[in-house]
Amino acid sequence: MLSKPTILLVYTGGTIGMVKNFETGALKVFDFKKLLQRIPELKQLDCNIQTVSFDKPIDSSNMDVSKWAKIASIIENNYDFFDGFVILHGSDTMSYSASALSFMLQNLKKPVVFTGSQLPIGDLRTDAKENLITAIQIASLRHKHQPVIQEVCLYFEYKLYRGNRTTKISAEHFNAFTSPNYPALAESGVHLKVSSEQLLAESPDNDFTVSKEMDPNVVIVKMFPGISEAVLAAIVAIPGLKGMVLETYGSGNAPSEDWFISILKTAIANGLHVVNVTQCSGGSVNMGHYETSTMLKEIGVISGADITTEAAITKMMYLLGQDISNTDFKTLFETSQRGELS
Ligand code: ASP
Repeated sequence: MLSKPTILLVYTGGTIGMVKNFETGALKVFDFKKLLQRIPELKQLDCNIQTVSFDKPIDSSNMDVSKWAKIASIIENNYDFFDGFVILHGSDTMSYSASALSFMLQNLKKPVVFTGSQLPIGDLRTDAKENLITAIQIASLRHKHQPVIQEVCLYFEYKLYRGNRTTKISAEHFNAFTSPNYPALAESGVHLKVSSEQLLAESPDNDFTVSKEMDPNVVIVKMFPGISEAVLAAIVAIPGLKGMVLETYGSGNAPSEDWFISILKTAIANGLHVVNVTQCSGGSVNMGHYETSTMLKEIGVISGADITTEAAITKMMYLLGQDISNTDFKTLFETSQRGELS
């Protein structure tokens, strides 16, 4: 008989693991060892659950490359002993972390499901229980002895998304995330419906490896009418800057004025990687479609296609952390690594 799946629950911080002190009203982190006491429903799940927590759980606004490496190490050290991983994380930067981990974990053949909540687990109207219980169920799904999900995902409010396709859209609604350019991988209603055709194709039979080198010498620049020459010049002059994600208008358009193109052209010639992503909440960059993007293409700006800003900046950190040439960087960035662009 097939043994029950074993799931590792990793608590990094965020609202989901907090309870309210009813006297002071303040939110504080609760002892994760008491998780099964607080959510007795977890005992009904058809899997074995073990938990591990950051020594000092964080608000996800304090997430950084060293903490991504910590999550990656936890998964690496436990990879052979668990069938799936559920990462409890603050919702504010969850899309960045899910994107980052999707690149850091290579040839992943097990589910890594990020989830969190808008209300603390101890709150009467909490969304934490449903998110947590269903995330664990999803991580436990198996077909022909293999995990159904073999990629980094994000589960929130009845939907499972590819992690590196998501973005947080609401600070208030339970439905806090969306995946603007890629359909949900699964939906939870009366039944849990997985859209198998949307899942990442099985990775080749290479060994699972983890890359913890993420280079944080990058910047996101959002275009706005009136951006000045002094501002752009100061940004590209930042010492050690290696990459820029340029959030442009519409399908990848930016000012065609000489000063703008000339600053970027010189920066690119000096080795700066500039990636064009749209600041629209959906759709794709298509350089050359308008005159205002033709020059960007000519000076060597990389197309981010329909990638999210979160995935673009973390992919940039990841590729910069690898030992690759400038030409390979462009080719690799414009090619899907983990289903992050179409
Ligand atoms: N500020 C919190 C965090 O991201 C919000 C949340 O947990 O949803 O850690």
